[in-house]
Amino acid sequence: MNPIGVFASVDAGLGVSWDVIKRIGVPTIQLHAPHQGSRTTANIERLRTQMKEMGVEVTAVFGGFEGESYADIPTVGRTIGLVPPTTRASRLAEMIEISDFTRGLGCDTVALHIGVVPHDRNDPDRARIVEVTQTLCDHCTANDQYLHLETGQETAEDLIAFIHDCDRTNLRINFDPANMILYGMGQPLDALRQLAPWVRSVHCKDATWSDQPGVTWGREVPLGQGAVDIKAYLQTLREINYEGPLTIEREIPEDPERQFREIGDAVRLLERYRDEIAT
Ligand code: MG
Repeated sequence: MNPIGVFASVDAGLGVSWDVIKRIGVPTIQLHAPHQGSRTTANIERLRTQMKEMGVEVTAVFGGFEGESYADIPTVGRTIGLVPPTTRASRLAEMIEISDFTRGLGCDTVALHIGVVPHDRNDPDRARIVEVTQTLCDHCTANDQYLHLETGQETAEDLIAFIHDCDRTNLRINFDPANMILYGMGQPLDALRQLAPWVRSVHCKDATWSDQPGVTWGREVPLGQGAVDIKAYLQTLREINYEGPLTIEREIPEDPERQFREIGDAVRLLERYRDEIAT
């Protein structure tokens, strides 16, 4: 049975705090990588001890960078991931450090938003992005790890083309159904079926469509209140034999009480659907 999880943060990123994880009591988390200064050996030991005491397993560590902004869709193109050329080398170096930090935590999965890759296969910048992705994949291989790309910033077809171009067996997908809607990049469940061979982790997140899909954001909403159809999502995950964690992502750190409440509701919704589907 798929364990339930939440997306969590220590001192960077917008995931839930340790306090909320403790109160909710889930068995798994995905962790946003802490700031560079916190990725020390001492902190790795502290995190391992803390997770052991809480009975929580970290199933993936997500990289994120200074200077990234999700303000609107054009800003995402300019600022996110390994795509912006001026920060590409330094962010690659940082992802390599995050891979080592992740290994220290005893976790076999590193993940990130790679950014908005040029779709034209003849674009010279695309070849350079493929190259840094290969370098990162190879470092992850040396650490016995997979690298997961978060979905949403491109259609399923474009993502598959990029994965083929990278040609690395440890390059996989963290599927986020809400991102497909938020970015206007296709019906999430169709995309999930297409991407199934590469999906190794997932987010449980919901959203409503923009009136101008692909131009302006849709809206992120509590799980079960958007256009994903969460029960059909879990059924599709079962169809594709996905056995990994169901990681709830709800990024409203400015309102921790609401975040706690909504994540609690999301856990109960997933448990109910998961049990209904299993029987
Ligand atoms: Mg996500």
